[in-house]
Amino acid sequence: MPHTGLRRRAPVARVSVTQGSSLTRTVWQACEHGRVDLAYERLADRMHVVSLPLVTRFRGVDVREVALFSGAAGWGEWSPFLEYGSEEAARWLRAALEDADLERPAAVRDRVPVNATLPAVAPDAVAAVLARYDGCRTVKVKVAEAGQVLADDVARVAEVRALLPDARIRVDANGGWGVDEAETAVRALERFDLEYVEQPCATVPELAELRTRLHRLAIPIAADESVRKAEDPLLVARAGAADVLVVKAQPLGGVRAALAIVAEAGLPAVVSSALDSSVGLSMGAALAGALPELPFDCGLGTGALLAADVAAPLVPVGGSIPVTRVVPLEALLTANAASPERIDAWRARLAACLPHL
Ligand SMILES: [Mg+2]
Repeated sequence: MPHTGLRRRAPVARVSVTQGSSLTRTVWQACEHGRVDLAYERLADRMHVVSLPLVTRFRGVDVREVALFSGAAGWGEWSPFLEYGSEEAARWLRAALEDADLERPAAVRDRVPVNATLPAVAPDAVAAVLARYDGCRTVKVKVAEAGQVLADDVARVAEVRALLPDARIRVDANGGWGVDEAETAVRALERFDLEYVEQPCATVPELAELRTRLHRLAIPIAADESVRKAEDPLLVARAGAADVLVVKAQPLGGVRAALAIVAEAGLPAVVSSALDSSVGLSMGAALAGALPELPFDCGLGTGALLAADVAAPLVPVGGSIPVTRVVPLEALLTANAASPERIDAWRARLAACLPHL
C-alpha cells in the first residue's frame, strides 16, 4: 500500500472535558477583544458581495456568492452557503472579521501542498477536471452523490487511478452513506488504495461503528461535517470516531479557533475550504501554514473550480499554493459584483448574524 501516509490507526484523542463550541467562543472573545470593528453600518459599508461562476456544477450550485470585508489587517471572506441559518453563518462571520482586522498567526511554512478536488462527474469528464490542478499528487473524489449509485463512484475512482497511477486518492461522501452502505462502498473502492474516507456517514455514532467495522482494512476515516457543522467540533475526536480531522477556518470561527480545535483534538488535521474565493483560500492557507504538523495535502486547490475570481487566482502551482494575503482587484470586484437585490440580502444576513457573534 504505497500511497498512504497514515496506515497505522491514529491514537484516540486526548480525553478532555472542554466543549469545542465554548473553546472557539473563548478564542474569539480573546482575540476580538475590542480590536474588531463590529458596527453594522461600517461593516455594511466595507462589505463587497460578488457572484462567481463555477467551471463545473458543484454542491448543487453554478454560482458562488461571497462577501468580502476590507479591514485593518487585510481582506476577510464571509461565504456561508445561502441555506445556512444566522447562528451558523455567524461563526463564518467571526472568521472573516478576525482575518480582516487582525494580523494572522505566525506561519511555519510558506507553501501548502494541496489536493485536486473532483466533483461527482462522469468518467469521461475526469481528465479535464484533473488537468486544472497543476502538479497535485493527491485527488479527493466526491462520491455518494444523490441520484448516483456505487457503480458510478467505482467508475470515477477507477478512472482517476488509471490516469494517475501514483496519486493518493481519498473519497468524500459528505455523510451520504448509512453504515452498511459505507462498508460496502469502502470494500468496493479499497482496491484503488484509498488514503482515507471522508465523512462516509452523517453522525458520530455511525462513524464510530464504521471505524470499528473497517478496522481490518486499516483505511482511516476523516471527519468533516462532524467537525464543522457540529454543536461541539471536538465530540467526534473525543468519541474515537475518526482518525483525521478536516478543518475549515470559516465554519470553525477563524484561524485561531481552528488552531485551538486541532490542538485540543490531538488528531492529524487536513485544512480545507468551502469553495471559497482566493481571499477565503488564503485564510485557509494561513491556517495550514500555522499548524505545527501538516501530514496531508490540503483541500485548498478549489480555486481551480471557479471561472472567475476577485484577484489573480490562488490556484495550485506545482501542487501547492503560497501562504500569503490576497488583495482583491477593484476591477474584479466590480465586474463580478452581485445584483443590488443580492447585496441587500447579504446586508440583511449581516444584521441577523451580528447578534450571534
Ligand atoms: Mg468534505
